[in-house]
Amino acid sequence: MILGAHESIAGGPSKAFGRAREHGAEALQIFVKNARGWKAKPLDPSEVAAFRAEARSTGLPVMAHASYLINLAAPAGSELREKSLDAFVDELDRCEALGIPGLVIHPGSCADHDEGIELIAEAIDAALARVPGQVQVWLENTAGQGTAIAADFRELGRIFAASGTKERLGVCFDTCHAFAAGYDLTNEAGYASTFASLEEAIGGLQRVRGFHLNDCKKPLGCRVDRHEEIGDGAMGLLPFRLLLGDERFTGAIGVLETPEPERYPENLRKLRALV
Ligand SMILES: [Zn+2]
Repeated sequence: MILGAHESIAGGPSKAFGRAREHGAEALQIFVKNARGWKAKPLDPSEVAAFRAEARSTGLPVMAHASYLINLAAPAGSELREKSLDAFVDELDRCEALGIPGLVIHPGSCADHDEGIELIAEAIDAALARVPGQVQVWLENTAGQGTAIAADFRELGRIFAASGTKERLGVCFDTCHAFAAGYDLTNEAGYASTFASLEEAIGGLQRVRGFHLNDCKKPLGCRVDRHEEIGDGAMGLLPFRLLLGDERFTGAIGVLETPEPERYPENLRKLRALV
């Protein structure tokens, strides 16, 4: 696995590469705009050029993460749905401009999961139709907090099945979220059955394009999204040892989303020592 970290874009997206190199990352994930706001000014062409130049000269692979405000399962006709779709399209456009191959998104939240799954698939198809090109949507498994969809891998599979744009869909697997959702990665049998469940649900592990490597602050099945530094949480190191030794994921990108960026170098050293 190619190991990296989620890096800040303060000062412009191109600045994330320098931070990645300082942290010892060999890949990175970024937000393509301020993740806490709906609106952002368009990307400056000079910033796009700077980003592409950095990507070329460093050779570091990049993936993007969508804003947490977006809810693709927001009710049809609602203001939230319209804002979510527009923001999602804008972020896909930014990825396309920057040459980023995948935008990771938490699929959405809706009390009625059957309805939510349909709404998510519809939103993805509508958004991708507005952004012709290469950029893909990588759906992330969730911790299942509140009414979040896709804590159960079978819901990821149902979104794939309901979408008419499957060729532009992938999965980003978050270790903390899987554990919080009740998938026990802390022993070999649990690890094997977790990925067997995922494989069956989404129709093949080649659909997994990226990993979020996070320990979990709370116990197995807690259903809360609380990331912890590698080895300091309830998961321990074994899940990461198994994942990094798993030949099915040799070429995949895995990025840290742990709480303290100052500890990225230490976490990356810990992970590399497991291989
Ligand atoms: Zn994540």
